[in-house]
Amino acid sequence: MLNYYPTTNIKTAANSSTDTSIFVIYTGGTIGMDYDDTKNHLVPLDFKYIIDKVPELKRFDFELTVLAMNEPIDSSNVQPHHWLNIGRMIYDFYNDYDAFVILHGTDTMAYTASALSYLLENLEKPVILTGAQLPIGVTRTDARENLISALEIAACKDENGKALVPEVCIFFDDLLLRGNRARKVQSFKFTAFKSQNCPPLAVAGIDINYERQLILPQPSEPFWFYNKLDSNVIIIKLYPGLSSIYLAHILHTPNLRGVVLETFGSGNAPSDDEFVGVLKNAIERGIFIYNVSQCNGGVVQGLYETSKRLAEIGVISGGDITPEAAITKLMFLLGNEHDNELIKQKLEDSLRGELTIR
Ligand code: ASP
Repeated sequence: MLNYYPTTNIKTAANSSTDTSIFVIYTGGTIGMDYDDTKNHLVPLDFKYIIDKVPELKRFDFELTVLAMNEPIDSSNVQPHHWLNIGRMIYDFYNDYDAFVILHGTDTMAYTASALSYLLENLEKPVILTGAQLPIGVTRTDARENLISALEIAACKDENGKALVPEVCIFFDDLLLRGNRARKVQSFKFTAFKSQNCPPLAVAGIDINYERQLILPQPSEPFWFYNKLDSNVIIIKLYPGLSSIYLAHILHTPNLRGVVLETFGSGNAPSDDEFVGVLKNAIERGIFIYNVSQCNGGVVQGLYETSKRLAEIGVISGGDITPEAAITKLMFLLGNEHDNELIKQKLEDSLRGELTIR
């Protein structure tokens, strides 16, 4: 399988026998940019020289295989087919490596992490995404720390020799977050990611302290990769003044199958007949409407009159799921399930720890 992909093999410690192999996929983003003195601007780093940029890697005894995408992209250009490609690579190399680290732009990292969490079922191995706010080639970069800690977490085993973190995560600054719980919250400081409705799975200080009770357990079923997503979905954020006419137009878009409705507070929306009627009509035409809150804490449909009406017409509660995890969950379920009742049930359930079951 290796022949299909152009990869660079790097052994971090030259003289001892390596017991951890990590597959690193560089997709693009700020983290991989290096300063080219001849051109006077930033260019993607050739990963053959990663040890020169991050000499600390020599202290680890890892076998790293780096696959740099032919054309590294800014993550604002990431599309669902990129998620499927990354998932396919992990599937293709799954048996050959102990862990996977994905270097990715920060802008859409939470979407990629969420999508991968659904596409890769019954993971026994870590898939850790990381990136940086400053390029790896600049002096004050956060890329080195993020990369080193992400690799260390990916390599961490439990007392039975199994991966300690068998799930898709984002490591950034000092936090290890469940991928489908993370959101980019900061574009200037190093603290780019937070997970408001789920505590960090680990915090990196002098030591890396894992919250083991929060980490998903090793699966009992075999690993599986789903290779379909349906992107006939949309996010609609409510605001006072949103016209029911505009909403009706959007909900009549041909092929539309699912909507993440970003509601107010604990899942509330206008309760007038016109607004509710537009949503009801869409649901009757088979469109899934998934209720996600605009604020932290999540949705409890029925707490207020303004969310009770949504529950009555068949709007599905997303609980405390993030919009990123909700839209990718819709794409995943609509792409892979055919029974509407099952889709509805799975939207309410937690598939990969993406929402809290109350
Ligand atoms: N625009 C960049 C990206 O998401 C920012 C970053 O890498 O942090 O690819």
